[in-house]
Amino acid sequence: MNRTIVHSYAKLNLYLNVLGKRKDNYHDIETLFERISLCDKIILKILPDGEIKVSSNMPGLPQDNSNLAYKAASILQKACGTSKGVEIRIIKRIPVGSGMAGGSSNSAAVLSGLNKLWGLKINRQELVHLAKKIGADVPFFIYDSPFALGKGRGDRIRTLKALNKRKVWHVIIVPRISVSTPSIYREWDKLKVSSRALTQALTMGKNNVKILTSALKKNNPFLIEKALFNSLEQVTASIYGEIGKIKSRLVRLGQRAILMSGSGPTVFCFISSRKEGERLYAQLKKNRFWQVFVAHTY
Ligand code: ATP
Repeated sequence: MNRTIVHSYAKLNLYLNVLGKRKDNYHDIETLFERISLCDKIILKILPDGEIKVSSNMPGLPQDNSNLAYKAASILQKACGTSKGVEIRIIKRIPVGSGMAGGSSNSAAVLSGLNKLWGLKINRQELVHLAKKIGADVPFFIYDSPFALGKGRGDRIRTLKALNKRKVWHVIIVPRISVSTPSIYREWDKLKVSSRALTQALTMGKNNVKILTSALKKNNPFLIEKALFNSLEQVTASIYGEIGKIKSRLVRLGQRAILMSGSGPTVFCFISSRKEGERLYAQLKKNRFWQVFVAHTY
């Protein structure tokens, strides 16, 4: 085998509590990841001479060593000392810089895909170790699990086996704005401790990931709606008015369980079925500045 195709899935954060800034400038968070069916396709082809090449159907995506898929191949090559190279072709569907961790997912898919293609037999623990070096969101995708809790930088993963069979549907809206994750965390840092405490108090009861996990386990829409939480939503929404506009539009369309993912700008809601998703899709697509997707847990 000298060629393989892998799928690289997006994530949503159903819960994201920023706990504080660390000495290494990252933030400690507690998050609940969901892997969803929205995905990129990656074609990997062995090159004999150690060379790594990246190309994509998306103009503007970096093709050099700043591409996270390139980084994954390079880090794996160094770790195992192989002389093999790879040609990586990324067919992008996950919007870039949207808060759905497309780049991190691509790098995890390349790590796992090349492990097989290059015949390395590296175990999962070692792959997770390499994944952490690439980025905080990468380890989640190494675990083959639809739902997981992330602690530390979000890179200490505990898979939620009790939710393995749970499949929920979402409508996902991505406005055509670009949000920088570091700048949102910087804004969060600037918030006075007192106003953070106020937000926490106002969201009391919500502010517990266990409530959300249990709500998902019981498939209880009322509790899910109450327990969705993202510390960064107010920060991003205060800078980008589009977040509030999307949320209001979803409320007017009868939706209740609505949240921003990661540092944004993606906003998603829980829906009951694909059919409801298609109905909402037709309405939301009327806004040509929004990309709209219907996706489910994967
Ligand atoms: P997160 O939720 O982890 O913050 P994100 O969805 O906001 O992720 P990405 O789509 O992963 O963001 O991309 C963030 C940056 O990474 C962009 O500036 C992009 O140019 C760069 N990048 C590098 N490699 C890739 C890749 N393979 N796919 C997407 N973006 C990439």
